[in-house]
Amino acid sequence: MHITLLIPLYNEEEMLPLLVDELENFRKKRDENIDILFVNDGSKDATEELVKQLTSSISGYRVINFSRNFGHQIAVTAGLDYVEADAVIIMDADLQDPLYVAGEMIDKWKEGYDVVFGVRESREGESFFKKFTAKIFYRFFKWFTELDIPYDTGDFRLLSQPVIQAYQKVKEQNPFVRGLIAWLGYKQIGLQYKRESRKAGETKYPLKKMLKLAGNAISSFSNKPLKITIQFGMMVSVIAFLGIGWVIYVRLFLEQVVPGWASTLLIVLLIGGVQFIFMGVLGIYISKIFNEVRQRPRYLINDIWESDPHEK
Ligand code: UDP
Ligand code: MG
Repeated sequence: MHITLLIPLYNEEEMLPLLVDELENFRKKRDENIDILFVNDGSKDATEELVKQLTSSISGYRVINFSRNFGHQIAVTAGLDYVEADAVIIMDADLQDPLYVAGEMIDKWKEGYDVVFGVRESREGESFFKKFTAKIFYRFFKWFTELDIPYDTGDFRLLSQPVIQAYQKVKEQNPFVRGLIAWLGYKQIGLQYKRESRKAGETKYPLKKMLKLAGNAISSFSNKPLKITIQFGMMVSVIAFLGIGWVIYVRLFLEQVVPGWASTLLIVLLIGGVQFIFMGVLGIYISKIFNEVRQRPRYLINDIWESDPHEK
């Protein structure tokens, strides 16, 4: 049986020697035919040269080199376009997702599951802030999308051949990989594991990228934000109508001047602010449509390199 480990790389030179070591250990331990597909997501350090140097004389390594940095989700998507194996395991380069869990995923797949995703029982070496925001995100995402996405998962998962083919049919410009895989269906199962700390180098997901991922995830799967704006608008309209009734009543039947400058201004400002926010929400969806209709290629490949054990 042929299994590919799909690993995106972005400035991972510090990680590579250890990673290749661990991968080789893993391949020796398993009976399956395992190869490795790296997607070098426009690394600016020596990642590309180092991979070649470390693996050129070992069989079963391929590197897809992007023309520039396209982001982690696109790197994974591109890799899935090029996988030819019976199953693929998507994992990070930093060994936060331990290889023994990958082995357990393969065993589950052999029991007949199509998707085996890792569930983070605990996360080591990550800040309280990151863990807390991730926890909130998954609950928020579920509320917004009503998509049955398992909590506390990442992209660390095994996909069988039918799932890979199904994923290749999804042509979204900004794919949210774990959401889409949940959406695909098939026979899925979670596997609890302890997420370890990054073994070398530092995170390639700063807060800005995390927020972008979260925003894209919600707007790709849900139009609830638009519905919420309508509901809010209706609520305000009802209050406004009641207010109008009251104003007319005061004007016609009570012989007194209403000193209403402050309250008028407050309401005008409030409604103005809320309107701007709602226009922004509309803008987000319009820009998504714009992105889709342009139909630019999602990634550009500079070259694909393959290791050759007979080279030396
Ligand atoms: N990565 C990538 N492109 C990017 C950012 C990250 O290919 O623009 C890769 C990175 O090399 C790693 C994986 O995505 O293999 C996850 O990144 P990281 O471990 O830094 O994220 P974290 O675990 O801190 O969320
Ligand atoms: Mg990591």
